[in-house]
Amino acid sequence: MNTDNQYNPIELSKEYLKKSTLGNQVSIEQGFNVELYEVSNNLAFIKNFGNIAVFKNDSTGLLIDTGMGVSSMQVIEKLKEWGISNIEYIIYTHGHVDHVTGAEYIVNAFEGTTKIIAHENVTKRFDRYKKTIGYNGIINQRQFGLPSPVFPNDFAYPDITYSDEYELEFNESIMILTHGKGETDDATYIYSNKDDALFTGDFFIWSLPNAGNPSKAQRYVGFWGEVLKKMSEYNSEYLFPGHGPLIKGKKTVKELLLDTSNCLLWIEENVLNLMNKGYSLREIQSELVLPEEFFKPYLVSAYDDFSFLINSVWRQYGGWYSGTPSELKPPKLEDIGRTYIDMAGNDNNLLKFLESLVNSQKYREASVIVDAAYSVNSDLFSDIKKEIFLKLAEEESSLMAKGIYKFNHDS
Ligand SMILES: [Zn+2]
Repeated sequence: MNTDNQYNPIELSKEYLKKSTLGNQVSIEQGFNVELYEVSNNLAFIKNFGNIAVFKNDSTGLLIDTGMGVSSMQVIEKLKEWGISNIEYIIYTHGHVDHVTGAEYIVNAFEGTTKIIAHENVTKRFDRYKKTIGYNGIINQRQFGLPSPVFPNDFAYPDITYSDEYELEFNESIMILTHGKGETDDATYIYSNKDDALFTGDFFIWSLPNAGNPSKAQRYVGFWGEVLKKMSEYNSEYLFPGHGPLIKGKKTVKELLLDTSNCLLWIEENVLNLMNKGYSLREIQSELVLPEEFFKPYLVSAYDDFSFLINSVWRQYGGWYSGTPSELKPPKLEDIGRTYIDMAGNDNNLLKFLESLVNSQKYREASVIVDAAYSVNSDLFSDIKKEIFLKLAEEESSLMAKGIYKFNHDS
């Protein structure tokens, strides 16, 4: 049944589940190596940076997501090899570029017309992207360590949109599309009854849910937890994740969905509990530790970071004021820098003090001072600034924290 002897994403996922912790499964390199795995005669999993699922009815295809435009040539080749000659539908699980930018290339490579189906907020997202193209380019560069800012300025908009639920029949299978808020407000998950398969999009990505990204619009920790719980009620045999390998087995699928759900609900409940008692954001950050029951290979802070999910809940329910008065209207960075230099006596004394902090591995404390000092005397403080932030990057597990600390220092 398998068209590829080497690549077996189901075996790969079993291997991952045996590990107590997990490396970063969503590395960008995944996008450069596309594989197709045949689940049945009518359904295949395509590994990509953003995964793709493809249904086949004779030579007509239905795709769930399209991957990144950069890998579309490989995807098109795999689809043709598998016997697809036209694509009737594409369903977007959400509007992120790693799931939608392949659409234009794929649609153009096949005959006939293709209808794109998505949640109605995908359209709003594409409109919003036009307003923030510069910013999105910069955060992509920072997050993925790219040589320059990159962000597309054109998107394949959906032809059919829906708001809560949408049903579609394809090759005698009923597909149920359901809207849920999690990483985005435009997300869809899909269940196919004939294949007993659940297509989660980025609601499941083999690492701690990406609900706290420091540079993105609001994400929804608690709603995400609720959605995963609802998904688990399908009791499905397959879970096709947005990133990382395919999962098979009802018991495993249910366990992964419920563990992830419980983890998110635990985070939201506990942040709200402390907010209601009057704790500041920083106090919550130092108070909350993820319980051991959530030390799972698929809940590691590999992409997002546990502490960022705390920020996300805080922002959703409490706005951006941190609860620490000096953070409400902080002075100019240069003014703080001059204050540190005055305290030390002069620039060189402050540099020596920073060196002593580095020697005692107090990188986080040193980072606060060096940001301010650098804004006063960039020549003197640039080397130590780089050293401090690269040390911080080394200590972090999440791609997002690493990306921010390495930005402009990784040469
Ligand atoms: Zn994604």
